Amino acid sequence: MTTPIYLDYNATAPLKPAVVEAMAVALAETGNASSVHRFGRLARRAIESARGQVAALVGASPHQVVFTAGGTEANNLALAQRSLARVLASAVEHESVSRAADNALVVPVDGQGLVDLGALERLLARESAPAFVAVMLANNETGVIQPVAEVAHIAHAHGALVHCDAVQAAGKIAIDMAALGVDTLALSAHKLGGPQGVGALVVADRAALQPMLLGGGQERGRRAGTENTAGIVGFGVAAELAIRDIEAISGLAGLRDQMEARLRRAVPEATVFGAAAPRLPNTSCIAMPGVAAETQVMALDLAGIAVSAGSACSSGKVKASHVLAAMGAGDLAGNAIRVSAGWRSAPADFDRLVEGWTSLWARLGAHRAGSAAPAA
Ligand code: PLP
Repeated sequence: MTTPIYLDYNATAPLKPAVVEAMAVALAETGNASSVHRFGRLARRAIESARGQVAALVGASPHQVVFTAGGTEANNLALAQRSLARVLASAVEHESVSRAADNALVVPVDGQGLVDLGALERLLARESAPAFVAVMLANNETGVIQPVAEVAHIAHAHGALVHCDAVQAAGKIAIDMAALGVDTLALSAHKLGGPQGVGALVVADRAALQPMLLGGGQERGRRAGTENTAGIVGFGVAAELAIRDIEAISGLAGLRDQMEARLRRAVPEATVFGAAAPRLPNTSCIAMPGVAAETQVMALDLAGIAVSAGSACSSGKVKASHVLAAMGAGDLAGNAIRVSAGWRSAPADFDRLVEGWTSLWARLGAHRAGSAAPAA
């Protein structure tokens, strides 16, 4: 039996060993960070240290970081600030943004998945009510990086607030929240080697924040509930390591590009989505014409290779990708898998993917698409 390989980092990344160690220490401690005694003070100190580490990941100040129970809550909390404003959200937002804003006006993307800045400008100019713009920094399915600084510039010129879901971008590209110019920014620990169920909303000083969860005065009244101390500690360590490891992660782009070139050489009919746009270094979204994404995921899983079909669904069922549909992928949207690498990925993992995918094509795709079987 060959060792299974994991190429699904955009779903969740393996915990980094130093994160596990720091969390084990934190879990062994007793103390509610709101308590005034020494136990509480120790927990408070651990949380505040993590706040500094997470703030540094995006060039923010510690007081701007509000810890949440993940990226979904951070996005929901940001969208809860829209008040009566009309929400304009890109067509490729994660469901934790799009579903948190019913009736949002959709800002279209082009064939590469990049938000249409002209359309954004036109939609904002038409809107008489105050507006609230949500555009993610990098897409979870394609890795396409949006021109968020330009989005913020346009939106602010129209008096709109801007939220940016940076859940997938964090740890994969350098982020400077001030340079992006956004009002709120969402992060999630488990995408960068930290624990699941912990995230943060980073709030610019100019933006007010109304809490969504009510109760105690934790997080300076911005998010009630006893803090997940060990999780937050793990998030802090993961954030610090992500800053240190950013060069190594950017090096994945070379391996990813070679992998895509090999796949396309073997299967000229293959399509790589967003390949002409700026992309995260670790992500590839590639369609094998004529073969359902689910079939590819299951066959690759049997070969010991873990990838996703478009967006991973909580129900375990794969539905057509709204991201690829918005990019005009048509039927190919149902044939696309996402390969996403990370801190523990090795060149041999990409080799295995190429072997597995091309032999799958030889078995299923070449025949269905009516082409000659390619060399593996
Ligand atoms: N935003 C994006 C772009 C994501 O990819 C995800 C998770 O897949 C989330 C938000 C939600 O984050 P979490 O899993 O921490 O709730």
